[in-house]
Amino acid sequence: MTIKTIDYELVEFIPEQLEDGILYISEPYNTAAHKCCCGCGEEVITPLNPTDWSVKFTNGKVSLFPSIGNWSFACRSHYWVRGGQVLWSYDMSEEAIQRGRDIDRKLKEQYFEDINRDKGAAPSWTARIGNILKALGKWLKK
Ligand SMILES: [Zn+2]
Repeated sequence: MTIKTIDYELVEFIPEQLEDGILYISEPYNTAAHKCCCGCGEEVITPLNPTDWSVKFTNGKVSLFPSIGNWSFACRSHYWVRGGQVLWSYDMSEEAIQRGRDIDRKLKEQYFEDINRDKGAAPSWTARIGNILKALGKWLKK
């Protein structure tokens, strides 16, 4: 069953059992998680930081930016969470998915360029190692 509305719950730790239609938000760990809104049962983990996702609250309803594209799941679902509503997109073509990824990458590059310009220096080694560890952590969880 596809989920049409989504609520949120602020938690310290993401619970082991996620309920349908709830976006769990852990501020201490800058992470949000929910069950894929198509009803397939997959867990969607969305790190909350400037290069991944962000949440916004309006009138007690949650929005998640950017959209959720579960290309790595069998369902390949793609939707937006806006004001507590789940907005569905079509199943995107490979080309459209690739284009979306390119845009994402450019935004990230732009973001890091801006940071580096602000700092006037390349990211420190500790920051780079931190990112590598984070990426590895993501990889191991798959
Ligand atoms: Zn799904």
